[in-house]
Amino acid sequence: MGEFDLIRRFFTWPTPRAVVGVGDDCALLAPNIGTHLAISTDTLISGRHFFADVDPYALGQKALAVNLSDLAACGARPSAFVLALTLPEVNTAWLEAFAKGLFDLAQTHGCELIGGDTTRGPLTITITVFGEVPNTPAGGVTHGIATGALLRSGALVGDDIYVSGSVGDAALALRALQGKITLPVSVMAAARARLERPEPRVALGMALREVASACADVSDGLRGDLGHILERSQLGAALQWDALMPLLATRQNYPGGALAFDASFGSDFAAQCVLGGGDDYELVFTAAQTKRMAVTHAAKQSATPVTRIGTVVSGHGIALLDTNGKTLPPLDAGDFAAFDHFSLG
Ligand code: ADP
Ligand code: MG
Repeated sequence: MGEFDLIRRFFTWPTPRAVVGVGDDCALLAPNIGTHLAISTDTLISGRHFFADVDPYALGQKALAVNLSDLAACGARPSAFVLALTLPEVNTAWLEAFAKGLFDLAQTHGCELIGGDTTRGPLTITITVFGEVPNTPAGGVTHGIATGALLRSGALVGDDIYVSGSVGDAALALRALQGKITLPVSVMAAARARLERPEPRVALGMALREVASACADVSDGLRGDLGHILERSQLGAALQWDALMPLLATRQNYPGGALAFDASFGSDFAAQCVLGGGDDYELVFTAAQTKRMAVTHAAKQSATPVTRIGTVVSGHGIALLDTNGKTLPPLDAGDFAAFDHFSLG
């Protein structure tokens, strides 16, 4: 099968929204009036971001999910994407499953595949997504930049800090797949689903547009991604230890309960997973305390659980507080130091 047959067979889908989709030199999109175009790109490399033998359907979904997660973090509505695919060989069964995974998630979010590039080489998937956000601020949220998008830079002292869903479970599954830890079969399936089938929080992101003061998605770990908000906002954070611990769903659902989890892995391990674990694709965001009802409403409207975990403070860095508000000693990051491609040899 040639390159163009491959594109036609696997990656040419209906594109009702695009003016021109796959097949010409450029795709053409007609942006809606009153919007900013939100753009993001992410690459997944075999052996680095996923195991070479991972289920291709799940991989197709994840390749798009990690990109949609960036749109979610900006409060953008997905509209289209392009796919740059590097393949070592043409394996039609693999391509069929990969394309199906990609297509199913794309359809769920109304995001059209409008173009791409196909080359031969080590398996690498790069997706660039396009989305739309209102181009004017609303709901009294001002970011210092005239846009309706959620940015990392808008947090203010006294804002509440929230995270959606559960965090740390994907990292736990990764460690189990690497043979570093052993998880009971009953919990491994759930943890592995978090790693291989992340659910981008697109509906929550859009519902938070007029509510959150700053937002980021949790791809590299809660500490690192909240850290990005704090850095861009030039502020610090105080997090409640007791609010963080239940965020690790695996620990909550562990046979014998959270205490049994702690007994198996050591008491700080859950905190390390929650703060340092990557690949969850949840949203971490800040909102004024006056917006608590609105946050609850956004969570309900998007059917997404949200937990308040702390407060934005002046200064810098992230402090952990016990129930009495006392600062806990800094947590050793263990092997959860935030993943940075260029800090590794
Ligand atoms: P060009 O050489 O002009 O850059 P190509 O020959 O690479 O274009 O691609 C032909 C058409 O197929 C273009 O419209 C391009 O966007 C599309 N395309 C190529 N690869 C993919 C892919 N993996 N998925 C979707 N569309 C693709
Ligand atoms: Mg061309």
